[in-house]
Amino acid sequence: MRLTRYFLPVLKENPSEAQIVSHRLMLRAGMIKQQAAGIYSWLPMGFKVLRKLENIVHEEQIRAGHIPMLMPTLQPADLWRESGRYDDYGEEMLRITDRHGRDMLYGPTNEEMITDIFRAHVGSYKNLPLTLYHIQWKFRDEIRPRFGVMRGREFYMKDGYNFDLTKEDALHAYNRHLVSYIRTYERMGLQAIPMRADSGPIGGDDTHEFLVLAETGESEVFYDAAVTDIRLGDREIDYDNVDQCKAVMEEFTALYARTDETHDEAEFAKVPEERKRSARGIEVGQIFYFGTKYSEPMGATVQGPDGKPVPVHMGSHGIGVSRLLGAIIEASHDDKGIIWPEGVTPFHIGIVNLKQGDADADAACESLYAEFTKHGLEPLYDDRNERAGGKFATMDLIGLPWRITVGPRGLKNGVVELTSRRTGESEELSPAEAVKKVLEIYAQHRGGTMPEPMAGRSFHTWM
Ligand code: ATP
Ligand code: MG
Repeated sequence: MRLTRYFLPVLKENPSEAQIVSHRLMLRAGMIKQQAAGIYSWLPMGFKVLRKLENIVHEEQIRAGHIPMLMPTLQPADLWRESGRYDDYGEEMLRITDRHGRDMLYGPTNEEMITDIFRAHVGSYKNLPLTLYHIQWKFRDEIRPRFGVMRGREFYMKDGYNFDLTKEDALHAYNRHLVSYIRTYERMGLQAIPMRADSGPIGGDDTHEFLVLAETGESEVFYDAAVTDIRLGDREIDYDNVDQCKAVMEEFTALYARTDETHDEAEFAKVPEERKRSARGIEVGQIFYFGTKYSEPMGATVQGPDGKPVPVHMGSHGIGVSRLLGAIIEASHDDKGIIWPEGVTPFHIGIVNLKQGDADADAACESLYAEFTKHGLEPLYDDRNERAGGKFATMDLIGLPWRITVGPRGLKNGVVELTSRRTGESEELSPAEAVKKVLEIYAQHRGGTMPEPMAGRSFHTWM
């Protein structure tokens, strides 16, 4: 993309309505525009990052064996009357009446609807296990929408639902989700710690929230500092392997890590003093096992092996896809702007032409642009007729992890400058070496090969 042809409405001034850094930077970098309290338009660069996060979520869900689908945003109230949640959900539910006087709602979540789909189409235990998910806009009429996309009213969420014959099978689904979520966050350059949590209006016994540590987080958390050393990394996971998934779940949840809702001073006292931490965290996901809470009242039964109907065991699992943009920026920025992790960056490399109109500089930039594009990377070329200082400030603000600076003086010596946004370090390299180095860096961020039939298809973008 050439900056002169893009739509990147960068703000010079700090917007006064933004209280936290991620909100401020998203507005300044021209990623979002508020349209009403907690409701945003996603401008091109914000939309690009949102799609990248969505792709990673899809890839990791499909890798875990979960099946994508799409349910509508609007739902009939009757489904929610069946589960008893129509009245329970309270003011957070946006209720709508259609022209025929029918009660509708903008879905805050989809347990009822998925249960309705299941009971209509699945009759036998032989069709289990089954995990369906979608990524769809949700609406919760939050009393205090704030912090930009972190606590919106309309927000984008991945929600998945597992259906299993037995509690053991459903607990395997729980563990599978825990592992796949950790992989998802790690690919986004984030550490999200699973913490024992409270189930709230979803209900159920087993639940973990995933928290990104950040001073601006809305949750109070207590943990053993040793949990922050655990990484999944690139180990091979067989999602059908019950013991392996359980072992990973145990590894990640054995140490003390809880939100204030389940915090237990007596248990916390057992953590060695020097490892005790209390901090703030951003909730970027949550998983639940809730047994037959919805399947019983809604009649989601299957014919069991003995021919008798049994209610299925269910769980639900959510990732806050739009909130993740804010969480990533909270975790990765400096006083100049955003610092995107390679796995989610809107463009892979920024090209800054120090002297637009200089024949050599223009030609070198064009050739770098063509080279990166040919190899499947997306460059953002600042081809504006602007001072170098202004171009650098824009690049720093929008946070591309790598920048190549091209100027007539360097080109006389056959070099361009490659700069890391994270460290600020620069290196002089020939254009060919610079391309090679950037390609090598991104080769490490492909996120592994996708299983058939996913590879190279549908949701799968290059990284
Ligand atoms: P919170 O406690 O932050 O209100 P929640 O526990 O009610 O969230 P869940 O029902 O667990 O939310 O939804 C799954 C995920 O969706 C959350 O982990 C969070 O990342 C995201 N999410 C929930 N509410 C919002 C919101 N208002 N704006 C943006 N993301 C949200
Ligand atoms: Mg939650």
